[in-house]
Amino acid sequence: MSGARTRALVVLHESGTISRSDLGSALGITRSTAAAIAAELCRAGYAEESGGRSGHVGRPSLTLRAQPTSIVVLSVDMRVDSCHALAYGFGGAHLAREVIDREMAGMSPDEAGATVARALEAVQSALPAQSRVAAISISVPGIVDAYTGFVSYAPHLGWRDVEWGAAVLTALGTPLPVSFGNDANLGALGEHLRGAGRGVEAMLYVSGGIGIGGGYVERGRVRMGGAGFAGEIGHMPIDPDGEPCPCAARGCWETLIGRDVIASRWNGDYDDLLEAARRGDEEALEVMNVTGHWLGLGLRGLIAITDPARVVLGGHLAPLLPLVVAQVHAECASLPQVRAGRVDIVAGALGQDAALIGGGEVQIMATIGSVSPI
Ligand SMILES: [Zn+2]
Repeated sequence: MSGARTRALVVLHESGTISRSDLGSALGITRSTAAAIAAELCRAGYAEESGGRSGHVGRPSLTLRAQPTSIVVLSVDMRVDSCHALAYGFGGAHLAREVIDREMAGMSPDEAGATVARALEAVQSALPAQSRVAAISISVPGIVDAYTGFVSYAPHLGWRDVEWGAAVLTALGTPLPVSFGNDANLGALGEHLRGAGRGVEAMLYVSGGIGIGGGYVERGRVRMGGAGFAGEIGHMPIDPDGEPCPCAARGCWETLIGRDVIASRWNGDYDDLLEAARRGDEEALEVMNVTGHWLGLGLRGLIAITDPARVVLGGHLAPLLPLVVAQVHAECASLPQVRAGRVDIVAGALGQDAALIGGGEVQIMATIGSVSPI
């Protein structure tokens, strides 16, 4: 496709629905060129056009709507305790999903590949017949090569230097392009493009479940570091006298703010703990004090290094934030940008879907032909 048509697809994907005149303004092209491109996108099946007004008084304009099944990406998020799949359509549509509740930790690469394949088959078979499935994205709770699927390190799966890509591709048996990504990096991208970090130039994402991961997005790109290990913030040393970590060190951040660790301070279920804290249960509030201190301490270091305009907390940290926001701000108050109110600390908007959506975005953008941001 020509440059203008490719950019039109990107704009349509990002907005979902856009008036023909707004599309023209976004691309800096004339109304007649916008009309020609819109007609072409409709003919090619990427969009539908309907009569309507753009919202600008007195300027009637046809509305262009992304056709979700015209580009479909199958996105998988392999977690430590389950495997999730989402069929993600052009324009950001969620077309089908599947969850396999199965412990992935300790699984052999072949077994994990077969589980991923099963989740993908389930979402693919639920799609409308006209769906054009273009690519597959697989999110991994560890350090993985985007193209080969080689997993250098995934402590919660118990994998180190595992040639996983070949096992997955054998299980999938598909000619479709497959890309891999770290769950926190893809989650950061998801929140940046579709969630709480939309429109923010410098965004730090901190997420977790059993472990803690992060991603730093600056000007639309996730920072990967020299060897792709950037964002392994769960293993920042926080408490030298702390508990042992699966990485073999002691007192890492995730040994202090991982979901199960927080729950163990209360001797019960994580969701019940948050509910008790919301009710004002004294014991639960004391756990919030301790947890808010450790969360804030780690964030202080990360904010000092990366200077984000917004910090987005995902996974189990999103519902925790309102209960510890005072402690977190108190810990971070020594930083000038926090004191000046130049850093928002907010809960993620995508919940547990952030990595699925981030992976879907990577492959939809790759399919459209723009440069992959990760
Ligand atoms: Zn560690």
